Amino acid sequence: MEHEHEHEDEHDIESGARERAGRRDEAVRAAVAQGLLGPGAAVVGLLDVTGIRRSAAALRAAFDAVAAPGTPVLHAFAVKATPLVPVLRLLHEAGIGAEVASPGELALARAAGVPAARTVLDSPAKTPAELREALALGVAVNADNPQELDRLDALVRSAPSRSPLGIRINPQVGGGTIGATSTATETSKFGVALRDEGAREWVVRAYLERPWLTRLHAHTGSQGIPLSLMARGVAETYALAEEINARAGRHRIDTLDIGGGLPVNFASEGTTPSYAQFARLLAEEVPGLFDGRYGLVTEFGRSLLAKHGTVVARVEYAKSAGGRRIAVTHAGVQVATRTVYAPEAWPLRIAAYDAEGRPKAGPEVVQDVAGPACFAGDLLAEGRALPLLDQGDYAAALDTGAYYFAHHYAYNSLARPGIYGFAPDGSGGIRFATVREPQTIAEVVSESGGAHASALTTLCAHESR
Ligand SMILES: *Cc1c(COP(=O)(O)O)cnc(C)c1O
Repeated sequence: MEHEHEHEDEHDIESGARERAGRRDEAVRAAVAQGLLGPGAAVVGLLDVTGIRRSAAALRAAFDAVAAPGTPVLHAFAVKATPLVPVLRLLHEAGIGAEVASPGELALARAAGVPAARTVLDSPAKTPAELREALALGVAVNADNPQELDRLDALVRSAPSRSPLGIRINPQVGGGTIGATSTATETSKFGVALRDEGAREWVVRAYLERPWLTRLHAHTGSQGIPLSLMARGVAETYALAEEINARAGRHRIDTLDIGGGLPVNFASEGTTPSYAQFARLLAEEVPGLFDGRYGLVTEFGRSLLAKHGTVVARVEYAKSAGGRRIAVTHAGVQVATRTVYAPEAWPLRIAAYDAEGRPKAGPEVVQDVAGPACFAGDLLAEGRALPLLDQGDYAAALDTGAYYFAHHYAYNSLARPGIYGFAPDGSGGIRFATVREPQTIAEVVSESGGAHASALTTLCAHESR
């Protein structure tokens, strides 16, 4: 059985990877041909709509395959991974809800038409106003800590709400290879630290005293967390729910929110691990999770979108320094912040395209792919072997559909690039749709206090006189 699965997976992964790379190459070529990319638009983000749809379908199928028929499963996309309204609408249409963690993200989900009943609010610093809004809308809320539960107590007393409510726990099962995305360490800032003195008993009592607490939530970590650790986080959450329900003498907790965090393979094209693999691992390690007694919520972000986005940037200059070839491009820290500041933890694959947007062949040359920002470390890739990039060519940063070009960092007042979705046009070509307009320079000025030019000089005018 196991071997059969692995066989199928390998086949799917290989053919899926080949097709995705093919779609991407065609899109880059078409973006240049159609003028989306060129001297006047030197950096863009491209989103593969076919790929996004396939990942959404794969996620749903993976859980459907292991959950008892009729189990309610809400896959809520972690909006922070790709906070773009058209993406949220596309996912909603594909049966995926939204996990939000700020007033902005909640507003994006609503603008995309994601219903409150398919939305979950999880942030660690919710204000009373945010909590009130969520409960008024009927959005699910997971309380992060005892003080937040106090606030929920008051709100629940003051007005009835349809919001499913729960508590977020930190199972403290440990971290992965990247500190910044490890949420289940001993001292993580998220949730109620379950193994701390008295904490477990506090959580159990919180549920016994509040019939309206019906969910339990944990998110064990993101990129860099091994699957086995994610599964342990889920197992701890499940065990606690079982304990609470046993002590309550009834099915108090009816839904488990198991978070997101499936790691993405940034080293090659394949989608590994797959949702199917993770769901099967959970079914093995925590069989009770899928027997139909619990509704399920998941919160995957990176794994749904990363593979379907590409940053493509024009090579403005090709130069050499101290024997190193350097391609100076228009994509750097503003669109790949984590990679530039922490290159060891967040390496990206780079693909080389010629001035017409065709994959570049030719012998590989060790070179730096630099960004446009004014500091020496602004490199997308350092000492990378690639076909030599020339002036007018294009460098593409792959797997950047989540936490990259949708997470603009305004260093050097570099403008946010335009983002375009692409799909086959039905007659062998590629059609693009605008997901986000490029930011104009006038907008850069206005968002940088342009309307308040004399605010500081007039503030102290009486002193200088
Ligand atoms: C960031 C986050 C997620 C999504 O993590 P990914 O690694 O993008 O899948 C899910 N849930 C919570 C609470 C998060 O903070």
